[in-house]
Amino acid sequence: MIEERPDRSAEVVLLGRSNVGKSTLMRELTGHSFDTGRRPGVTQAANHYDWAGPDFVLTDLPGFGFMEGVEESRREEIKTAIVQYLEEYADEILVGILVLDANSAVEIIDRHEDRGEIPHDVELFGFLQELGIPTVVAVNKMDKAEDRDETLDAIAERLGLHPPWKQWQDTIAPITAKRGSIDPLTEAVGNHLREQKREELLQFFS
Ligand code: GDP
Repeated sequence: MIEERPDRSAEVVLLGRSNVGKSTLMRELTGHSFDTGRRPGVTQAANHYDWAGPDFVLTDLPGFGFMEGVEESRREEIKTAIVQYLEEYADEILVGILVLDANSAVEIIDRHEDRGEIPHDVELFGFLQELGIPTVVAVNKMDKAEDRDETLDAIAERLGLHPPWKQWQDTIAPITAKRGSIDPLTEAVGNHLREQKREELLQFFS
């Protein structure tokens, strides 16, 4: 893991609220366990997982949203840094993976909307679309979801994707990162890479 972005023309980024399981997923995707020593909110830099040969980098953007002991102003800075990163590298980013927690996403989105605020997840999902970055929403912790279809339909609806969620399998990928159950995500990412004639990068997602 390095903090300086390597000069690569192909990139996949992971983003998500803090505690959704992004590090767990990163570990699953790369087969590597890294102790980044990154405490929530401490760094606003991205972590890059790079390979020696291929012109490809997998980037883990810092977690956003509420973090125990992290001030609001600091959290805003982190979100701004994420937005700037996406803008700057939009041409290189082939796929964005927005990670959500199946069991809290809807409640958090609704709470913000009730207050008249735009929820971060909704905003960033829209922003990725605006930038033309194909996006997969990895709905994690499905092992704890009570009603699978109900949960996924509710999330789809909040993101402006007309339910049933099953119509959106290239966009919505239910996973349980902790158990390594991430096939829907690798399939969806694979489809987006194939569309961009970059199927050779699929080897990094198995
Ligand atoms: P991050 O802050 O997004 O990097 O989240 P972490 O990867 O550190 O995970 C946050 C917490 O969620 C940890 O306690 C993980 O063990 C737990 N977690 C991650 N993936 C899953 C999952 O698929 N199911 C369940 N039930 N818990 C998970």
